[in-house]
Amino acid sequence: MQDDLLSGVTAPPPRVRVQLPLPLPGPYDYKVPGDMALVPGLYVEVPLGPRRLFGVVWADGGGEGAVEERKLRPVIRAIDLPPMPDITRRFVEWVAAYTMSPVGAVLRMAVSVSAALEDPRALTAYMRADREVPETLRLTPARKRILELLSDGPPRLAADLAAEAGCGTGVVRGLAEAGALVTVPMLALPRFPRPDPDANPKTLSGAQRLAADDLMVKAAEGGYSATLLDGVTGSGKTEVYFEAVAAALRAGRQALVLLPEIALSAQWLDRFAVRFGVRPAEWHSEMAPPLRRHTWRAVAKGDARVVVGARSALFLPFPDLGLIVVDEEHEAAFKQEDGVIYHARDMAVARAHLGRIPIVLASATPSLETLVNAETGRYARIDLPSRHGGATMPDVTLIDMRRKDQAPPARQWLSPVLREALSQTMLAGEQGMLFLNRRGYAPLTLCRSCGHRLQCPNCTAWLVEHRLSRRLQCHHCGYQAKSPDACPECEAEGSFVACGPGVERVAEEVVTLFPQARVAMMTSDTLSGPRALREVIEQVKDGTIDLLIGTQVMAKGHHFPMLTLVGVVDADLGLAGGDPRASERTFQLLHQVAGRAGREQRPGRVMLQTYMPENPVMQALATHDRDSFLAIEAEQRQQLEMPPFGRMAALIVSGEDEAGVDGVAAALGRTAPREREELVILGPAPAPLAVLRGRYRRRLLLKGPKAVPLQAILHEWLGRVEIPASIRVQVDIDPYSFL
Ligand code: ADP
Ligand code: ZN
Repeated sequence: MQDDLLSGVTAPPPRVRVQLPLPLPGPYDYKVPGDMALVPGLYVEVPLGPRRLFGVVWADGGGEGAVEERKLRPVIRAIDLPPMPDITRRFVEWVAAYTMSPVGAVLRMAVSVSAALEDPRALTAYMRADREVPETLRLTPARKRILELLSDGPPRLAADLAAEAGCGTGVVRGLAEAGALVTVPMLALPRFPRPDPDANPKTLSGAQRLAADDLMVKAAEGGYSATLLDGVTGSGKTEVYFEAVAAALRAGRQALVLLPEIALSAQWLDRFAVRFGVRPAEWHSEMAPPLRRHTWRAVAKGDARVVVGARSALFLPFPDLGLIVVDEEHEAAFKQEDGVIYHARDMAVARAHLGRIPIVLASATPSLETLVNAETGRYARIDLPSRHGGATMPDVTLIDMRRKDQAPPARQWLSPVLREALSQTMLAGEQGMLFLNRRGYAPLTLCRSCGHRLQCPNCTAWLVEHRLSRRLQCHHCGYQAKSPDACPECEAEGSFVACGPGVERVAEEVVTLFPQARVAMMTSDTLSGPRALREVIEQVKDGTIDLLIGTQVMAKGHHFPMLTLVGVVDADLGLAGGDPRASERTFQLLHQVAGRAGREQRPGRVMLQTYMPENPVMQALATHDRDSFLAIEAEQRQQLEMPPFGRMAALIVSGEDEAGVDGVAAALGRTAPREREELVILGPAPAPLAVLRGRYRRRLLLKGPKAVPLQAILHEWLGRVEIPASIRVQVDIDPYSFL
């Protein structure tokens, strides 16, 4: 009795600091109930105002400026899961500091499934009812797709069905209410069996073997290293880094492979399953919440040994990560542009460094950032200079669209040269592909009588006509409308003309030119989900398709043995605009598209329609001289002190009130750190997308030498300006988008 009293006097009840997954300035203190033992990293449930939230014990509480004892509220309960690893917590803090985001905002990405912390509930799956579909049921296209999906598959979760059919879960529930579906309890979530590193290894060629051995030693020994795996398309980079994954597994560690667009990676998953005997755990934003929850827990407990995922997989709480691979490391998709703005490739390198593990960056067209790091020795480098199995690189020709004999007829888009090549290819029983990185029918629709252009009501952007879906769409905010019959300005009827081509228009031309050809489209509009993509891929492989027409979803990763001709409808498309990386990115994209041609025995050829054949990008593609092109590109960037030779940060001021936005932008302009002579400050200026989703936008850009303490400067600068709650200022460190 006496003892208890005394201890109550000398040692105040312990408290902890709990980081909540919210954009708060820092962690909050909570009281630890007497019967609870809390260590840093433990997941806990705590009260916040009237709410109960999950958070992570960040540190012991107390210290300077601590909240008064009597105001503290107690932790409600600790969650029965392994604590968040120390490295994950340090990584969250590091990313927060680098991107200038609140720690809680980054933590939210790491516990993106707060329900994961709850005890798993029984799940409900849906299957077809035993009887015929009731006659009274209205069969919308979405309902039809769901019924089709279930006609030959096992019962599935509403969220999975909805994702695959490209509709909401309400459609599934509606069908159940109407009696067309019944529910069954579902227990069979994936069990994440261990991938077997020795299941089915390929015999590697000489260069591949050397590359694989190098990476295997790194993965087996651990310790930080960063290696660029630079190999032409089809050289076997994937096979090589699979060996590094195998080595990490043999060393008893987990491995993470980041892919730019996991939803498009069906072939990759199949190859993994062949090599390792089982599928890896997948992680991406389109996953159904129950599966997400389940996967998150499996990673945290160490059950999932290999994770393949999109950028957010980097924030999973791996207890024992031993290797990271970033495939197609140059891809812009690794940059997250909203919320916490970060580049997953760069953060992955930081994660590897913190965890003292190797990272492999693979690409056929590495970013200048990575190449420069390899040249200065910060990264090691392995080259795979030739295609596997003796396949040759395709022949690339430029079609000069300025020449009369090569230009297409009026209001058509394919040059006679390309038409001829398409016809030869199909006659030879081979397949062709036409690439145009523009969705829809036409990028602009205008009224012939008054010149009115159809514009998005929410954005500074034209509405794009999608003829297949009979709608106009804004590609920036998703706004959709029915195509009007009459001009909203002059009321003339049937006066609209489509300007310029989109993929749908190219497809129309192809069908007219080759009525016998079996044509398929590959765009994010025409493919309603992973299954639809898989079907098209199978058809191309089976040879039931002669011609593929598509946007960049078609450019990546696919391996089609009989595809021998690639035609690029508008090779100049990416070169316009103010993006300092425009040339580099255009080269990367077109190189990747070109890499689809002639991947096996039959040699491939590539035709680029261009109005600027002398442009260094076109020349580099035609002469297969990537390195000279990049050397010139690097020299220009160096002269301008552009990344990777200098550093940049963008400030984007936005809000619904234009005057308010201008006020803050002007204040930032006035208080800019001009006293530092080594900095260049541009703006404020209206962003190219001056209005987006109804918000006015202004941009400022800060540029300086590599050594400048960018975050500290920005921190001080932002502290000089009062920013009202209605105005948002986003900080974009190392910007990739300048819209
Ligand atoms: P990359 O990732 O460099 O584009 P991949 O790893 O996809 O190259 O290889 C291209 C194709 O060649 C794939 O179909 C792959 O399975 C095959 N391949 C590569 N190396 C080998 C090998 N050593 N043995 C058998 N097939 C291989
Ligand atoms: Zn819009």
